[in-house]
Amino acid sequence: MNGQIIFSDDEIFLKKLVNEDFLTSLISSDDKTLQSKFIERADDKRREFFSNRIYIRGLIEFSNYCKNDCFYCGIRKSSKIARYRLTKDEIMETCSEAYSAGIRTFVLQSGEDLFFSKEKIVDLVSSLKNEFPGSALTLSIGEKPKDEYKAYKIAGADRFLLRHETINKEHYEKLHPISMSFENRLRSLKDLKDLGFQVGSGFMVGSPWQTARNLAEDLRFLRLIQPHMVGIGPFIPQKLSPFKDFPPGSADLTVFLIALIRLLIPDALIPSTTALETMNRREEGIKAGANVIMINISPDKARGKYIIYDGKPRSVLSVSDELEKIDGKLAKAGFSMSLDIGDSPRVL
Ligand code: SF4
Repeated sequence: MNGQIIFSDDEIFLKKLVNEDFLTSLISSDDKTLQSKFIERADDKRREFFSNRIYIRGLIEFSNYCKNDCFYCGIRKSSKIARYRLTKDEIMETCSEAYSAGIRTFVLQSGEDLFFSKEKIVDLVSSLKNEFPGSALTLSIGEKPKDEYKAYKIAGADRFLLRHETINKEHYEKLHPISMSFENRLRSLKDLKDLGFQVGSGFMVGSPWQTARNLAEDLRFLRLIQPHMVGIGPFIPQKLSPFKDFPPGSADLTVFLIALIRLLIPDALIPSTTALETMNRREEGIKAGANVIMINISPDKARGKYIIYDGKPRSVLSVSDELEKIDGKLAKAGFSMSLDIGDSPRVL
């Protein structure tokens, strides 16, 4: 693979990059020099669209109940773990503290918990939007019928995260039980886009049976659907899950894939995820083109119980102290922390 040719021209470069064979060989290659050229270029691309700003999101894990049994997940319904749900008051209080500290995007995340009916989520969304003006609300609560998504949108939800995990149906069926459907995942993503949400998707890197070809397919899929946000993180085995004995995904490959995603979807909001932070590589994700950091603002009741994978970082700092720490680290690396709402440039 000749880096000189690849990098000679923007158009030729992109044409090559969307080719599945080319992507597969790139992902399979262990050429660190070539990878660092891509990373440098991705860093330039991010600066072109977002300058050196890194957006902060406040993540609230409000329930670890889930009706599903994804084979890789620690909070799947078969896991014998302590379960919790935050009350509406607890969620409002949590957001209030974060809002006072300057946070303007709240990400409400849970398993697919049927206790939180459409009406409860609608009530929560509208209360949060009324109480915290000028903030953006992201939901990450899984697959729902279109009418539910529509109700959330009408209530004021701005964004929705739903990872596709893998665009290869055969691979999807190895990661999920028969009760879950590949088609329903794709239908959900389409509905969310059609309803006008800013949509986030993504996948695990190094999930069991994943091939370089699968990853190339995932990148091409993302390029095709152009999500506003893309989250990827290394697969990390969770000791209570059926995949407990599989090796973790590669942090190096995750960082490289972040760079490729930045080049394929230059205006995407890309978090350097907590799974990457678990491997102490969050800053590298940022340097490779990521531009979002999610901080966990969940109250004590929830901390340590949303164990989708093992070793998940657990900060004991207050929101303000956490922000101060991140601000210092980012400044040292030449970036600037932004508490702005940080919408996708496509909706501005
Ligand atoms: S990955 Fe999500 S949907 Fe699957 S079991 Fe875990 S929380 Fe539930």
